[in-house]
Amino acid sequence: MHFEYSAEDEAFRQEVRQFFAEQLPAGISHRWTIGAHPPARQDIRTWQGILHQRGWGAPHWPVEYGGTGWSGFRKHIFMEELYNADAMDYGWQATHMVAPVIIAFGSEWQKQRFLPAILSGDEFWCQGFSEPNAGSDLAALRTTAVLDGDEYVINGQKIWTSDATIADWGFFLVKTDTTVKPQRGISFLLVKMDTPGITVRPIVSIEGGTGLNEVFLENVRVPGTHLVGEAGMGWTYAKYLLEKERTASAFLYFNKRELQRAKSIAEQETIDGVRLIDTPEFARKVAAVEVDLLALEWSVLRILAEEKTTRNLDAVISALKVSGSEMQQRVTELQIDALGPRSMRFQEHGDWSVENPLADDAWPGYVAGRTTGYLIGRASTIYGGAREVQKNIIARLAFGL
Ligand SMILES: Cc1cc2nc3c(=O)[nH]c(=O)nc-3n(C[C@H](O)[C@H](O)[C@H](O)COP(=O)(O)OP(=O)(O)OC[C@H]3O[C@@H](n4cnc5c(N)ncnc54)[C@H](O)[C@@H]3O)c2cc1C
Repeated sequence: MHFEYSAEDEAFRQEVRQFFAEQLPAGISHRWTIGAHPPARQDIRTWQGILHQRGWGAPHWPVEYGGTGWSGFRKHIFMEELYNADAMDYGWQATHMVAPVIIAFGSEWQKQRFLPAILSGDEFWCQGFSEPNAGSDLAALRTTAVLDGDEYVINGQKIWTSDATIADWGFFLVKTDTTVKPQRGISFLLVKMDTPGITVRPIVSIEGGTGLNEVFLENVRVPGTHLVGEAGMGWTYAKYLLEKERTASAFLYFNKRELQRAKSIAEQETIDGVRLIDTPEFARKVAAVEVDLLALEWSVLRILAEEKTTRNLDAVISALKVSGSEMQQRVTELQIDALGPRSMRFQEHGDWSVENPLADDAWPGYVAGRTTGYLIGRASTIYGGAREVQKNIIARLAFGL
């Protein structure tokens, strides 16, 4: 593959870089960098609003709904610069999951009602798919929605619903027909999170955050107009959505930024007066990660170069998800290695929720958030399709096993 940025691309990069330098609020960037989970609702709203004002609220959407029309490479440059600037990259459930489904399968009313509020950051969404006995085997879900007049009545329970406490809306997979084979009886419903009958109970995760939740639904009444597409077609829409989620799961921009951060820490930490980065053992660890990350980057670029391909990329996308999520764990682990005992600071204070956790500390600012990031990273090989399940897909599609 021959790959080179044009002079126009480079000018575009400068434009994006300058925009972030001038417009990104320092407080939002700081809180994002230390990994508060869930992030403050107001931070998501403010930053999404700033991007939207510039016309960059959802670069990947079709132009008629507020997208940019950028090529794959332009979007790549934008994302690289976004991460280099430590700008917030959140709200994917809204801009990258439910919105493409509404655009592809929703009614005209749904497009008018929901897309502008997503673009501006005024409304934020959560994803209600998984249930206590339906994760990898999602079709086994048991939450039901029964039509009563022109409303659906929902009963059941969801789990691991990220950001349910700060979301205005949720998109839920529900069973509307229990008499047909599981995949045929599932529908896709848009539900306002303050509807009577919804109870959200946060789950404290390993790093101490409360981004994950259980959601209980008891006789929750939802207008029939909130059904996306046709009843019983929810499985098809969910598969479409999960493909979008997985494409992003190479975590490329995150991984590049966090490797940079690991190297920067290792340039500042010393052992007996020697910079950690200059010790052969650590340098070797960095090189091993760097080489694999470069390979991941080129794989992503190759996919971007194939933007208009008709080739089935399902196996490749699963491979990117596996290697990208494993890489996320390796780069964050490298940071913890570089920090050594300093990373244990987390045990005493926690570092996920405070405005400026190290303000009174003698320790350098780069310590904050690294242990949180490492712990959160353990989940990357589970969500968006667990690693083992992805490997099954690769075995079947790429090797015919
Ligand atoms: C941080 C985080 C955020 C999440 N956010 C959301 C969200 O916002 N909304 C939502 O709906 N869900 C969310 N999830 C749930 C996520 O989608 C599920 O955890 C995931 O699909 C796995 O399902 P499970 O947890 O039920 O595990 P299981 O499916 O029970 O899997 C358990 C283990 O068995 C393995 N396994 C399962 N089936 C097979 C198989 N056929 N072959 C080989 N191995 C197999 C899995 O790989 C895994 O290791 C989130 C999860 C996490 C960790």
